[in-house]
Amino acid sequence: MSTVITETKVSPLSLTPELQRELDEQNARLESALPEEVISWAAERFGSQLTMATAFGPEGCLIISLLSKVAPATHVFNLDTGYQFKETLQLRDEMAERFGVRVELKRPELTVEQYEAKHGGPLYKTRPDQCCFDRKIVVLRKAIEGKHAWISAIRRDQSPDRAEAPIVGWDAKFQLVKVNPLANSTSADVWKRIMNDKIPYNPLHDQGYTSIGCWPCTRAVKLGEDERAGRWSGSAKTECGLHSLGEFRGQS
Ligand code: SF4
Repeated sequence: MSTVITETKVSPLSLTPELQRELDEQNARLESALPEEVISWAAERFGSQLTMATAFGPEGCLIISLLSKVAPATHVFNLDTGYQFKETLQLRDEMAERFGVRVELKRPELTVEQYEAKHGGPLYKTRPDQCCFDRKIVVLRKAIEGKHAWISAIRRDQSPDRAEAPIVGWDAKFQLVKVNPLANSTSADVWKRIMNDKIPYNPLHDQGYTSIGCWPCTRAVKLGEDERAGRWSGSAKTECGLHSLGEFRGQS
């Protein structure tokens, strides 16, 4: 029988008018702040109830490097779908060695072999939304259980889905505060800091992969193509569901 995408709520936090007011104030205050200032505020405000999700993109690597300076105790995790590039997993080790930040791998209940056997083959070919739901969203929900805030590495100029992302806002989808320290940074801003600070990055970026996810759903992009054109190429899918349009509510 086919799996059906379902939604559940797990966060202990609720959006009160007071919290919304605080988020609005902080969002306005931090709009012109440096990413490290945003991270410092989040770490101080949420302490051990702050977490970060990373897929080891350049933005994630930059944030990990900043966390190591301003909030090294922050929990960081990676959604290890079982379909990640080996280069991505090697980068995790390199980041730990360089910055002392050990990124925890959060995995789905079923291994790739078990999952594909259950569905009679890889779902990424036929039902990628379900595959992302099972191997990312469900795992993310478990990873953020008990947390009050999470840091993501999205930028507004990455896609229309991300264009309205605030620096700090309420994540209506996952019911916790979402902090986007690089929301108003550009790709050039991020790469400048990567190069200046000699931060490790995924070697696939030097082979035309501008945005890197799971290997079955990622290709290198051609000159002039959009930064995320290589993700789920040839299909209408543009996001895995972690950072979708409309997830932020009540931002002024
Ligand atoms: S990106 Fe592709 S392989 Fe990875 S979880 Fe989504 S559909 Fe599955």
